[in-house]
Amino acid sequence: MDLSKGIRFECQGTGNCCTSRGEYGYVYLSADDAKRMAKVIGVGLREFKREYCELTDGNLHLKNPDQDCRFVKDARCMVYEGRPTQCRTWPFWPENMNAKSWSKDVKSFCPGVGKGKLYSEKEIRAIVREQARAERS
Ligand code: SF4
Repeated sequence: MDLSKGIRFECQGTGNCCTSRGEYGYVYLSADDAKRMAKVIGVGLREFKREYCELTDGNLHLKNPDQDCRFVKDARCMVYEGRPTQCRTWPFWPENMNAKSWSKDVKSFCPGVGKGKLYSEKEIRAIVREQARAERS
């Protein structure tokens, strides 16, 4: 995938990525994500995990991945400042950075691709690294 000219992306606020598409959509949380979200919601970490999270194969994620994210309201994220890394780094995820996934899973699904801010290759690679770190933590 050629990133040398950069990629434009700006969220168009459709809420597409926060609502169920009739399939499972896991919102994974790193340890830092969970702490940050708990703080934004105003609950302790233990309570946040009990109320909002579950574990699958040892990975922490928001509950009910088969339903709309419970933090989306009128296509807006209610925990925007504390939203998980995977929400913040979309669409520059390691698994998206190949021509096939980009066109099948990203471009055709997300109306923000090709609009707004031009991300340089350097910026994109930094975001991809950030997401990869979150996936490992
Ligand atoms: S946490 Fe916010 S940005 Fe992430 S899926 Fe839920 S509503 Fe969307």
